[in-house]
Amino acid sequence: MTERLYYNDAYTTRFQAHVVERLTHQGRPAVVLDQTYFYPTSGGQPFDQGHLGGTPVIDVFVRDSDQAVIHVLGGEVWVDEIAAEVAWARRFDHMQQHTGQHILSQAFIQAAGAETVSFHLGDESCTVDLHVNQLAAAQIEQAELLANQIIWENRPVRATMVSQEQAARLPLRKVPPLEGDKLRVVEIKNFDLTACGGTHVSHTGEIGMIKIVKLERRGAELRVEFKCGQRALHDYRLKNSIINRLAAELTTGYLELEPTVTRMRDELKELRRVLKQQQTQLLSLEAEQLVQQAPQKGQIRIVAQVFSDRNPVELRMLAGQVVQNPGTIALFGLAGPASQLIFARSEDAPGEMNQIIKPALQLLGSAAGGGSPSFAQGGGPAADVERVSQALVRAERLLIAQKSGT
Ligand SMILES: [Zn+2]
Repeated sequence: MTERLYYNDAYTTRFQAHVVERLTHQGRPAVVLDQTYFYPTSGGQPFDQGHLGGTPVIDVFVRDSDQAVIHVLGGEVWVDEIAAEVAWARRFDHMQQHTGQHILSQAFIQAAGAETVSFHLGDESCTVDLHVNQLAAAQIEQAELLANQIIWENRPVRATMVSQEQAARLPLRKVPPLEGDKLRVVEIKNFDLTACGGTHVSHTGEIGMIKIVKLERRGAELRVEFKCGQRALHDYRLKNSIINRLAAELTTGYLELEPTVTRMRDELKELRRVLKQQQTQLLSLEAEQLVQQAPQKGQIRIVAQVFSDRNPVELRMLAGQVVQNPGTIALFGLAGPASQLIFARSEDAPGEMNQIIKPALQLLGSAAGGGSPSFAQGGGPAADVERVSQALVRAERLLIAQKSGT
């Protein structure tokens, strides 16, 4: 079994070790050392990165069968005596987040009676899941403040190995399944005592600060996302720059951002309503004009019109307005990069729109269209005004043929 040096010392990053086993793991070379400072993925904390003899360490885990620490490598190492180095920035980040989690978990117990049921430390986010699914905002703030007070008091953090017998007498927050006959206990002086195998800072002041950034209800539990130390600074920096840019863009102070955005949203809603109303009025006028200009053919008027640079949705609305007039048929075509035909008739007008649209679309090189006797539409590839006009002429001829029953 590998001697895990990080248990007693989370700060040493350079060390010498002896290779006791070579293996391959998922096609990559891996080694077991007689002793290691590399932390293997466990207890919610990810593995350390770094180098073994200049070769990058890309994964570290514990082998179930014998508890050996497996270092998976980016390449082969040929020597048996190896100089190793743990990447400090990542390790220290994990120490800040993990110790911060111990403090936050205890703070939630004291401030809200909420127990932590699980913990996750990821590259992007750190979370604890609490056994309650709802907490008052004041309780959250109280827990966050208490956690930060513990940090500012710079309390010592100490890890000791105890026997199962000793552990049973300690007021432990969490007891994991035992590895061997000893249990590792991490104490934050006069605040928290829990069993844990992770890497921690030696004094709480090193965490810098804890900020809760997000709450998410998950069934019977509450997921609390938080950031400690450098992550909290990066988060503050990012949010500060977003807010400052927004405030400058809206020429307001950042405290005025919320009411400003609310006002803008309300204004936008009102403008959309007015715009829609005016669009409808304009379309109604346009429809009236089109109907008046259309030649009367017996009892009906056929409004055949080719458009370009128009929105198809708007054209459908316009066709709808045109056929509000009794005895009216609208044959609309849209020329451009995507051609379109929209055929409609008033309830009392003759003609089967779904019959005449197909041959008209064929002329545009498309078969994608259909509808009902009173309304039909279809789209085709790019077509110029002349071509779309030809399609409308064909439709009109078919319409007249339908009407005369030939
Ligand atoms: Zn821990």
